[in-house]
Amino acid sequence: MDCIFCKIVNGDIPSYTIYEDDLVKAFLDVNPDVNGHLLIIPKKHYKDLFDIDEKTLMHIFETAKKINPILKEKLNTEGLTLVQNNGLLQEVKHFHLHLKPQYKEKQRILKPEEIYNIIKE
Ligand code: AMP
Ligand code: ZN
Repeated sequence: MDCIFCKIVNGDIPSYTIYEDDLVKAFLDVNPDVNGHLLIIPKKHYKDLFDIDEKTLMHIFETAKKINPILKEKLNTEGLTLVQNNGLLQEVKHFHLHLKPQYKEKQRILKPEEIYNIIKE
């Protein structure tokens, strides 16, 4: 299947991965809306919310809870907005949860590579 996120899971396409385990992978969005904009995806291909099973879905939200303190500590975030598109507004047809950190002050948007280096410091 020609799925860009399956290719990321397989390692055929590189990603700035912040967290992964047997079920999920979390990596920086290549075109961030905000600094630290991440996507959490299941390693198995599910199209969208109406396709994914409950256990995997819950694990994705638990992963968001696990990642939040890292964003707080490394990027001084003040909150987290979760977005998940299905259908018309879903560009990549492999389930993904957007994590968009909130900041007190307006931020200059850095490249994913720069954010990755800050998080991994
Ligand atoms: P959506 O509109 O919810 O399907 O969002 C898809 C997101 O995937 C967009 O924010 C893209 O910037 C992001 N994206 C597409 N290709 C890649 C990639 N190779 N690595 C990281 N993020 C990607
Ligand atoms: Zn896929």
